[in-house]
Amino acid sequence: MLSDTHYYFNKAADVLGLSEIVRKILLTPQRSVKVEIVIENCAGELKYYTGYRVQHNNARGPMKGGLRFHPSMNEDHASALAGLMTWKTAVVDVPFGGAKGGIDCDPHTMSDKDLSLVTRLFVEQMKDVIGPTTDIPAPDMNTNAKIMSWIMDEYSKYEGFSPAVVTGKPLHLFGSEGREEATGRGVMLILREVLKDQGKSFADITVAIQGFGNVGSNSARLIAEQGGRIVAVADHTGGISNTDGLDIPALCKWVAKHDGVSGFPGGSAFEGDDIITWEADVLIPAALQDVITEKNATEVKASIVVEAANAPTTPAADTLLLQRGITVIPDILANAGGVTVSYFEWTQNIQQFSWELDRVNHELEKTMTKAYRSVCEVAKEKNIDLRTAAFVLAIRRVGRAALARTHIESVLLP
Ligand code: NAD
Repeated sequence: MLSDTHYYFNKAADVLGLSEIVRKILLTPQRSVKVEIVIENCAGELKYYTGYRVQHNNARGPMKGGLRFHPSMNEDHASALAGLMTWKTAVVDVPFGGAKGGIDCDPHTMSDKDLSLVTRLFVEQMKDVIGPTTDIPAPDMNTNAKIMSWIMDEYSKYEGFSPAVVTGKPLHLFGSEGREEATGRGVMLILREVLKDQGKSFADITVAIQGFGNVGSNSARLIAEQGGRIVAVADHTGGISNTDGLDIPALCKWVAKHDGVSGFPGGSAFEGDDIITWEADVLIPAALQDVITEKNATEVKASIVVEAANAPTTPAADTLLLQRGITVIPDILANAGGVTVSYFEWTQNIQQFSWELDRVNHELEKTMTKAYRSVCEVAKEKNIDLRTAAFVLAIRRVGRAALARTHIESVLLP
């Protein structure tokens, strides 16, 4: 994954004609912190974990990025994802940099008491490097609003009342209206703009979605509300299709009860992996990374791919999709609705003033639409694909901010 991010970065850096030294400065994380976490768990066993926080860049503002609790968590993984956050926040022009971190633990096998202890020990050791004006964590894989509440509580013990130290908190503890569905809403808004550019509307399209968790289900619901026909959905339990369009509210209820789409009576079952090559106008990967590969990219039927998941397309597959004239909306633009509303949450915390849902959605719409238009402008100006254009836009914004803080003028970015 680290190499994928570097590949896309370098492709854009080639367009900008960046020197090796500027590439190195922009690619290298500013700081990487590793901490040891040892607990005696509820069963009386001694447990050892490692916590990570990689802070990539803060030229445009405090660093921002999720915390993953997963046994596979390591420094390389955190580095790749931290860089991606820097480019993502720059594309949507929110005043943050990028960071990522986590702990190599498996919350599914831990009691709440042990999880709370591990989280609090992580914060105790990271409290000097995170903070409302330095680095603001958020939920990611296997972390949630409850864990964010513990982080806020622990950090506030040392630094005083600090809701802005973390986003993704529950609504009743300084969270934001609209955060839950923000990434899915961003996906819907970007797709709306793409369709406008192609002279189409939601009523004209069929959609296939991989993943029916937070991002997949909210994207499906909001696209269906606009008149789009969701003809196939797949998750870890299998796939379900209906050429007339799936009843998304009914599917949401089913999944809440059965923990997956499998068995849903409103459609026909299929092998989940077939979703990538499903007969539909739009494909939305909203689950895992590296699912569109060299092996299936030539079989993709959709003419628009909206990357709601992080890094769902390998670089080799990306090249094949582009050769076939498929429009790919890159992850750093398509799924940036989440970090945008995280920024709104932070803003509300700093101001100690809550926004109503309408305001959150209105500001999100403005931000996503503007970001899409800016990426399209760069794509047109440089005659490049949308992913490379998004990276060019982000590198320009971060690079210019970074250089403006120094006395170095000789290597100003184009
Ligand atoms: P989630 O845990 O709520 O949902 C994940 C979904 O993926 C589930 O429906 C699960 O069944 C499905 N899935 C798991 N394994 C699968 C498999 N082998 N085949 C098909 N489906 C499978 O996660 P989420 O928050 O919806 O995040 C989904 C993706 O979007 C991730 O890549 C995440 O990094 C990215 N993302 C999420 C947000 C956010 O705000 N939640 C923001 C930006 C990016």
